[in-house]
Formats: sequence, C-alpha cells, structure tokens
Amino acid sequence: MPVNDAPVPPVAIPQSADTLVPHIPGVLFQFYRSHSGHMHFPYLEGGGMALAYVDRQQLATDASQLIEQLTGNDHPKVMSAIERSARWMLPLNTRFRLPFPKAKPHWIAVSANPEPMETGVRWNGIMLDITDQVLEELRLRKLSDTDPLTGLPNRRKLMGQLTHLTSLSTRHGTPLSIMMIDIDHFKRLNDRWGHLQGDSVLEQLADVTQSLLRCEDMVARLGGEEFMVVLPLTSLQQCHKLADRLRHTIADYDFGIGQGNVTLSIGVAEYRCGEPLVSLIERADRALYSAKDVGRDCVCLLP
Ligand code: GH3
Ligand code: MG
Ligand code: MG
Repeated sequence: MPVNDAPVPPVAIPQSADTLVPHIPGVLFQFYRSHSGHMHFPYLEGGGMALAYVDRQQLATDASQLIEQLTGNDHPKVMSAIERSARWMLPLNTRFRLPFPKAKPHWIAVSANPEPMETGVRWNGIMLDITDQVLEELRLRKLSDTDPLTGLPNRRKLMGQLTHLTSLSTRHGTPLSIMMIDIDHFKRLNDRWGHLQGDSVLEQLADVTQSLLRCEDMVARLGGEEFMVVLPLTSLQQCHKLADRLRHTIADYDFGIGQGNVTLSIGVAEYRCGEPLVSLIERADRALYSAKDVGRDCVCLLP
C-alpha cells in the first residue's frame, strides 16, 4: 500500500470550551462591576503567562486589590478605561503592567465588550501577555528618541517634551526657560585635533552639562554641535545664572586638548504663557546669534 494511503491516526478534539481554554496562550474572562463599584471576575480561565502570577480565587470575589496594586499611571488609566466603556457601552481596550514578579513585570493587553446588567456592567473578553512586544516597542522608542553619539535625547524627543511643558506652563502660569547652546569654532577644533577628538568633546560636554542639571531638566542634542537645555519651573534670571555657570565650567574644563579650547555661546529665553512654541525657540535662537555676534564665549538674552 502506498505510504500516502496509510490510515491517519485520530486527532484528539476537545469536547468543549472547558477542555480547550486551559491550553490557549491567553485568558478568557468575565468581569463584573456593580453600580456600587464592587469589581470581580465571575469567570477567569486560560493558559499562557497572563495570569501566572495572580491569585485567581481572590479575583473571583474581589478584583479591586489587584487593580489597586497597579503602579504609576496604570491605575488611573485602567479605571478610566473601565469607566468610559461602562458609560458609553464601548469596547474596553487597554493595557497595563502587572508589577510582579518584581524581577520581570508582565505587560497585559485587555480587550472586552461591555454588557449592561440590572445591577451593574459585565464585560466578556480576553487578556494576553504582551511583555515581549512591549519591551521591543520600548527599545525602538528609546532608539528613535536618542542621539547615538552622546546618549542624550534627540531633537524629536526634545520637541515632545517642550510641547508638554509649554502647555503645563500655560495652564498653571509656571515659569519655563530654555538655553540654546552652540560650541564656538567647532570646525576649527575638528580641523586641529581631528574628528574623533571632536566627537569626544561632544560626549564629554553632554556629561558635564547633565551633571549641572536637576533630574527634571533636560539637555538634548539638536544636531551637530548644538544643544538645548530645558528648565521647567525656572525663571529667565535663574536660567541666565545657570547658563553662565555652564559656560565657565566648560571654559575651565580640560577635554583632553588643554583648558580654554572649548567655549560655548548660549542664548537664553523664557516662555511667555500662551505663545507658540516656535516663538520661544526663535527668541533663544536670536539670543544665541547675538552671543556669536558680540564675540562668542558668552550668554545673551533678548530684551
Ligand atoms: P561658530 O562659532 O560660528 O558656531 O563656528 P563653528 O565652527 O562651530 O560652526 P560651523 O557651523 O561652521 O561648524 C560646525 C562644525 O561642527 C562643522 C561640523 O564638521 C562639525 N560637526 C557637526 N557634527 C559633528 C559630529 O558629530 N562630530 C564632530 N566631530 N563634528 C561635528
Ligand atoms: Mg552650529
Ligand atoms: Mg558652532
């Protein structure tokens, strides 16, 4: 008999969803929230890693403890996603980070459909462990936000942060200042000591500048030998003082080519509540050009 005609052994087919569900790489669930706010999972079954570290019995009676353990922004994010879904009867789609096991927190994606009930809302849905995808996303995002030479945030990241900070400043009336920094005669430095030494100056300048800043400040490389420092909750006067300290520190610093061979021109500007972001940047840019005009190695601001 030809091999192709050999009888096929019978394949075990699950008899029902009950026998199938424990083998799927995800979790099927029913989630219930009463009008009084009590939350629990009447049904929660599945395989994979999504629920490997949670107490299912506890969730069957009370889900609020787990939700309260979500850290950072995840707790309000999940609660408002539930609220929105319940209010408008729209699908619940969100993701959150389970803060355990501590060594490797797991990311979970949730997708569920709400259903109004007499005493609350019930969702039927699925949860999947998406840790590997999220870690890859974070790696790519960091790559796209970072200058490879200095490790500083790049222009893209800086513009996002500035957009956020200017809107906070407009909303709360809080000060926000920036420094536009350009290394003086950097072309000459490259010509004299070589491009690799020039690269090393850029790297060291990034480190020295960062060491003078608070953790909420940001220094970014805009490109070439141009950098920007963003200082939330900082007035123009304080920004000017810090810029002058940075300028002196750099002028006195030995970058491996002797002191005094690297100097900075810096333009400073303070955000005026409600103005477009480009106006702030233009003002700092023009101040930087003034600093170049008056002879470099100085800090300028526009009246
Ligand atoms: P100024 O005082 O007017 O700013 O003069 P400058 O020479 O600093 O300015 P210019 O714009 O003429 O030259 C900038 C130089 O920066 C030219 C370019 O070769 C150099 N440069 C830009 N990016 C890099 C880099 O990543 N590494 C090195 N080593 N040099 C760079
Ligand atoms: Mg330049
Ligand atoms: Mg320059």
